[in-house]
Amino acid sequence: MLNLYGLTLSKLEQLMLEEGQKSYRATQLYTWIYEKRATSFDEMSDISIKFRDVLKEKYCLDLPTIHTKQVSQDGTVKLLLSLQDGYKVECVLMRYSYGCAACVSSQVGCNMGCSFCSSGILGKQRNLQPEEMVGQILVLNQILKEENKGQHITHVVVMGTGEPFDNYDNVLDFIKIINHPKGLAIGARHITVSTCGIVENIYKYADEHMQTNLAISLHAPNNELRSALMKINRAYPLEKVMEAVKYYEKETKRRVTYEYLLLEGINDTKEHAQQLIKLIKGTMGYVNLIPYNETNKDDRFHRSSGNRVHAFLDYLMKGGVTATIRKEFGSDIDAACGQLKAKVEEAGL
Ligand code: SAH
Repeated sequence: MLNLYGLTLSKLEQLMLEEGQKSYRATQLYTWIYEKRATSFDEMSDISIKFRDVLKEKYCLDLPTIHTKQVSQDGTVKLLLSLQDGYKVECVLMRYSYGCAACVSSQVGCNMGCSFCSSGILGKQRNLQPEEMVGQILVLNQILKEENKGQHITHVVVMGTGEPFDNYDNVLDFIKIINHPKGLAIGARHITVSTCGIVENIYKYADEHMQTNLAISLHAPNNELRSALMKINRAYPLEKVMEAVKYYEKETKRRVTYEYLLLEGINDTKEHAQQLIKLIKGTMGYVNLIPYNETNKDDRFHRSSGNRVHAFLDYLMKGGVTATIRKEFGSDIDAACGQLKAKVEEAGL
């Protein structure tokens, strides 16, 4: 059965034509599931009972189910969701003054093997389908609906478990579905995809000319250190990543965000800041400094102290690079980087 939540409007239009229907049926279905939030075909009163039966036979509207829900003191909600085949993925709801953001996973596990990240401990089990990514947002929307404050997800970051550009086609469909005005209508500028630097797909994404945000997980300013921290750098070294970023900027006229995790004594010295300035000068991008979430994966890594973080920020700013420090959410519930899942699985739950 095809899950309706996994279909872009144009794919659904195509399917409706194949059913001998007019293509506007697709828009009608989109309106039912995304605007009116119908959860069954029976609610779709302006579609004939006969065609509803056809739909029921071939399509479903299944969502992941909530396995574990944690709510932090700052209102951040972290869900561990069960997928149909029993695999589990995490998503997080973050509350900003300007709206509600969903942090979405793109794969079950991850093959990138970054040494500081716990998502990759077990490797990649499988890619997520578009409906499983859309499903994460819809489940978070249900939670917001139950709160009765008239809120829904307005911002999406693909920064959960997985490497989105290692699941390129599904992630692209997912973005098209949530961005479409008849879909979840989340503005392109409210959608951010984060990649560790799979270069050929940065080019491909640039050619889509989306107005979404692209974040590059840099985390180190030279190849030696980056290759030690992120094995992807051995396949796609920094100069290739930077070339791709320049192409992306030229094609989309959008500036990228460079994510830079601060690891005490490893990548947070003045020298590193200077190398970073040199590396990204000549691009429009700006740096988002990320406080490291300590995991028990590797005891070489510790969060840089507040002083070092601010000193690093100062060096960058003095060097003419715009930088910010990432706001943290839900640190009391491990709302980061595969930790909940790891814990639940350890406990055999
Ligand atoms: N695979 C993608 C997106 C998922 S990770 C990527 O690499 O960009 C989202 C961000 O969280 C990445 O920048 C990643 O490097 C970072 N990250 C991983 N482990 C972390 C940790 N323990 N603390 C803080 N950030 C972490």
